[in-house]
Amino acid sequence: MAKLYLIDLDDTIANTSQDLKGDRERIPKLTLVPGALRFLKKNKHKSILLSAGNYGDQQDKIDVLGIRHCFKEIIIRPKPEDKLEVLEYLVRRYREELLHGAHLDLTQIVVVGDRLDIEIRQARRLGCMTVRMKIPGGRHSNEGAIMPTDPAHYEVRDFVELMKEYPNL
Ligand SMILES: [Mg+2]
Repeated sequence: MAKLYLIDLDDTIANTSQDLKGDRERIPKLTLVPGALRFLKKNKHKSILLSAGNYGDQQDKIDVLGIRHCFKEIIIRPKPEDKLEVLEYLVRRYREELLHGAHLDLTQIVVVGDRLDIEIRQARRLGCMTVRMKIPGGRHSNEGAIMPTDPAHYEVRDFVELMKEYPNL
């Protein structure tokens, strides 16, 4: 079945808050969230990385984590809010691809991220399936919903839990 994963980097795939503590000099110490590599390898040609931040730093993080080969596309934008229009574009593009294949099923776009106010809210608005990562020590892990449509469809603490609890996602 056609599936597309749109995945965030910081505090979703990488333990950014916990490992870097706001210091970019610590990027070489950055680690993967449990199960992240297995999930990415399993979905190797179905995943797009959508990350916000300094371009060079984000590229360094991807190399330190050794995950560059896992994505069919890597998109880096300066600010978190920039993800809103990128998500809209990616969903529109995917819809068109699906239409050409004559099987339109938007539940097959799965957005994985830690921020309710950015990727999760926008993904829900666009009709995607949403997974919120609440990793221990994540900067946004304890934030609560503001809008009625904020809560993600699924909430997990890492990719081990995601694959165990929702193997079909
Ligand atoms: Mg993030």
